[in-house]
Amino acid sequence: MRPHIVQVALPVPLDRQFDYLIEAHHFPVVGGRVRVPFGPKSHIGIVTGFKHQSDVPTNKLKPITQVIDHEPLWPQEMMELIHWCAQYYQYPLGDSYSIALPSALRKGKAATHEPVQVWSITDAGRDQLAAGNKRAPKQHSLLEHLSHGELNHAQLSEEFSSAILKTVQDKGWIQQDLMAQVMKPWSVNGTSLVNDDDKPQLNEEQAIAIGSINAKREFGCYLLQGVTGSGKTEVYLNAIEPVLERGGQALVLVPEIGLTPQTISRFKNRFNVPVTVVHSALNESEKLNAWLDAKNGTTGIVIGTRSALFTPFKQLGIIIVDEEHDSSYKQQDTLRYHARDLAVMRANKHNIPVLLGSATPSIESLYNAERGKYHHLALTARAGNALPTTNQILDIKGQYLEAGLSGSLIAEMRRHLDAGNQVMLFLNRRGFSPAMMCHECGWTAECQRCDAFYTYHASSQEMRCHHCGSSRRAIAQCRECGSHQMVAVGVGTEQLEAKLNQLFPDHSSIRIDRDSTRRKGSLQQALDSITQGKHDILIGTQMLAKGHHFPDVTLVALLDVDASLYSSDFRAAEKLAQLYIQVAGRAGRASKPGHVLLQTHHPEHPLLNSLTTQGYETFAQSTLVERQQAMLPPYSFLALFRAEAHDADRAEQFLRQVRHIFEAHPIFARQSLVLGPTPAPMAKRAGKSRWQLMLQTEHRTSLLKLLASAKPAINMLDLASKVRWSIDVEPQDLV
Ligand code: ADP
Ligand code: ZN
Ligand code: ZN
Repeated sequence: MRPHIVQVALPVPLDRQFDYLIEAHHFPVVGGRVRVPFGPKSHIGIVTGFKHQSDVPTNKLKPITQVIDHEPLWPQEMMELIHWCAQYYQYPLGDSYSIALPSALRKGKAATHEPVQVWSITDAGRDQLAAGNKRAPKQHSLLEHLSHGELNHAQLSEEFSSAILKTVQDKGWIQQDLMAQVMKPWSVNGTSLVNDDDKPQLNEEQAIAIGSINAKREFGCYLLQGVTGSGKTEVYLNAIEPVLERGGQALVLVPEIGLTPQTISRFKNRFNVPVTVVHSALNESEKLNAWLDAKNGTTGIVIGTRSALFTPFKQLGIIIVDEEHDSSYKQQDTLRYHARDLAVMRANKHNIPVLLGSATPSIESLYNAERGKYHHLALTARAGNALPTTNQILDIKGQYLEAGLSGSLIAEMRRHLDAGNQVMLFLNRRGFSPAMMCHECGWTAECQRCDAFYTYHASSQEMRCHHCGSSRRAIAQCRECGSHQMVAVGVGTEQLEAKLNQLFPDHSSIRIDRDSTRRKGSLQQALDSITQGKHDILIGTQMLAKGHHFPDVTLVALLDVDASLYSSDFRAAEKLAQLYIQVAGRAGRASKPGHVLLQTHHPEHPLLNSLTTQGYETFAQSTLVERQQAMLPPYSFLALFRAEAHDADRAEQFLRQVRHIFEAHPIFARQSLVLGPTPAPMAKRAGKSRWQLMLQTEHRTSLLKLLASAKPAINMLDLASKVRWSIDVEPQDLV
């Protein structure tokens, strides 16, 4: 007998699935969407299975309203991956499915390419073309274009105006049709798969790395550690090549800021296969088309940011995660997944290789490599003729600073600029100054809603809170004493830029931060103008640190890293080390040697010394030892509970109750630990008080068991519906 009950995962914040009746004319499929009634509303959900019986009496079950998909949206492995992800990151399954889907599908659109407008030439048009027409060259060219076959309106309209198209159409020479897109797997017609023109001769380390990755087709995780410019991308390309040769597809994940046209064109130029790019700036139908192209096998390579991890493929053959240590791989809200970790999981399910690349691998990945879970591959030399950089720590204790610049740094800048090179300065703080203070009484303007000072933005004469986004006109008078002597305290990129224009009037500076690149396309424009040599001084936040190649930069300076040396977040040192190495990698990529300067009040700090004299490897080794001694990840597993409420007591009380639930739990053995509740590092934000509670276990399985079995009790707490709370499994950011 055909099962008559279907189990559906719905995007509702409940940790369970729902049963519905299947009526005779409905044929739902597992992994496809259905529309179902839910309370007074209707929802779109994913079918996860069929049943003969439900816990709910049959006469209480409602029938599904509509079957949207007659084929699964995801293959079985993806369904399993999303289930695992929902369970591991403690997020409702239906919501997790929803997040994994492109928004068009979430809303119920058909999982097919939208038909496109195509133009073709008519018989009359062919006659006309043969006859030739010198007086209307544009019309002639249009006919010529179409004589080789039909073309999409989108492609054609780049070259021909709609007026021309209309004129020629009216003459009956061309016609327009709406065509469903044919979706067939990509293939290389006539040309060869690989463009050999730009393919360099591999060096020995590259050859060894590629040899071991390509030695087998099954699952294996490879950690490719290579300094910037050592030729990691070349290894990626060579690892993808045999996959494409077999007719397979590749998924390449890049950090949010790393998705540059330069990166994309390297893949496009190497292979004669369609390359699809997926990122948050695509519109809804572009995202859907990209998703479908991957699913149907019409594209060979998908390059995308974090969420591209959920793209289904017809025949996925390899996954590459570039800059695997990058924190943008971790989603910071809703489904708090880590795309790198899921990529490894996904590769395992598909039984294909996964390649994690970085100049500065995460401590977690190095640990896995050390334990033999990952194969460790190294590229130690810079490819081509790039020279290694030199480092220097600048002690700024007691020194006079001009907008954060020490005299020695200014002198060094001058030397490099005089030699006709570019200089790059890093300061991870945007705005003019991070605070405004009264010079007479010391009162500092603070956001009313957050536990934070207002940042002063001189260009707009505003004070902005970088935590809740609120802003107000910059105040000219002290609230406390009425003095008019309000002064800007501390230095942000805006102030630095202004100062540099004064100090180096003959050298153009450009600033790259979230304020200066708000407009769509402006980041790319700025990067292009830097590459074209229009600017000598580049100022940026860490936005500038990643992925971009600036061959004429010979001096890089970090202006202020001291806050990271004494942070409450145990990962702060790791992040600083990674930033430092990445930043250093910006310099001297061509034949010009690079120099890196680091300003600090703590020149004796062991972290800075080991980084500048011994490099990342030594830093990572000592960090592993420290983490082990402190029982911190990767030697333990964490789940962070965050709670916030207008009423501070409520948030704290809720977490106190959560703590009791864990402590009373039979699994809560000696190896588990619960810390808190404590106020969050930013104790107030957007008007709400924030608290947190940390659960720590020695093993991953005990963390999951504990969370899974405690969660129903937590959900039952009276306060659970009165405070805003979340669970972050393996949190990356503790603030
Ligand atoms: P990474 O990804 O590690 O930063 P890239 O792959 O971008 O490094 O390589 C840096 C530069 O060196 C690129 O211009 C690349 O074309 C070049 N390159 C890579 N491998 C080789 C090689 N074996 N011989 C010569 N040049 C190479
Ligand atoms: Zn005052
Ligand atoms: Zn605020």
